[in-house]
Amino acid sequence: MSFKEKGLLVVLSGPSGVGKGTVCKALRNRGSSLQYSISVTTRKPREGEIDGVHYFFRTRDQFQQMIENEQLLEWAEYVGNFYGTPIDYVRKTLDDGKDVILEIEVQGALQVKHRFPDGLFIFLAPPNLNELKKRIVGRGTETAELIESRMNVARSEMELMQNYNYVVENDQVEKACDRIEAIVLAEHCRVDRL
Ligand code: 5GP
Repeated sequence: MSFKEKGLLVVLSGPSGVGKGTVCKALRNRGSSLQYSISVTTRKPREGEIDGVHYFFRTRDQFQQMIENEQLLEWAEYVGNFYGTPIDYVRKTLDDGKDVILEIEVQGALQVKHRFPDGLFIFLAPPNLNELKKRIVGRGTETAELIESRMNVARSEMELMQNYNYVVENDQVEKACDRIEAIVLAEHCRVDRL
């Protein structure tokens, strides 16, 4: 019997401010074997963000062109900006037998589920919505109006949890990473994936 492993597409999603970025960074620092897909966005870089490292920063026209050329696995408009996942990197990495992780918002995650139903969908949940608001306010990067609109999105996003395979509460980053690594490992051991 051959146990040829296929690369796994892991989608880590959940409301903005829940700590997806922090958890991904912590997974990276642990030397996790997951490969990180870099998204394209039309939003302006925040201080310290580098093109090609944190995001590929593109104009709206360039983004539109990528949609038309079918270069994106999924894309979504999120509070006034566009975000999308370049498909070539994902395909190539999975074909090489490596696992890829996407850190994306929930509309995009639902599109990925449609195209890659065999993906592993993990919903990162905040301990509660008040905690989420504290985190978004604590970042200090958003205006009051933007905070309210991110909170409204977050409330409706929580209802989409049922579309995912797993939910991981982000009460402590290291604990969340332990759970994600355990889920990925278990997924590789599933008999129906061999
Ligand atoms: P931020 O502007 O804070 O970097 O990201 C805003 C939201 O967009 C976050 O929830 C983040 O996970 C999500 N996001 C980042 N890249 C992508 C992507 O490629 N596709 C989708 N659908 N969402 C993304």
